[in-house]
Amino acid sequence: MRVLALALLLVAAPAAALPFLSPAVTAHVDDVADRVVGSRNSDVYHRPNCGHARRIYDSNLVSWPNAVAARESGYRACRVCSPG
Ligand SMILES: [Zn+2]
Repeated sequence: MRVLALALLLVAAPAAALPFLSPAVTAHVDDVADRVVGSRNSDVYHRPNCGHARRIYDSNLVSWPNAVAARESGYRACRVCSPG
């Protein structure tokens, strides 16, 4: 049961929702869910649960499997959610 509880915790708690975690723990969570999103109207990419990302209209939303792919598209990391 302990393994199941840990799995549920990881699913329910994305990295950006846990800013108090140590960098090592945050990096581990990023390995599981490193997708990033951005708006066609800007050149900034975010973690999907960043407050700025949530204000992007669905019609303007673009996403990448990871931060490297976003940078290759000419986008830069958000300074609020630090998506890497
Ligand atoms: Zn952001």
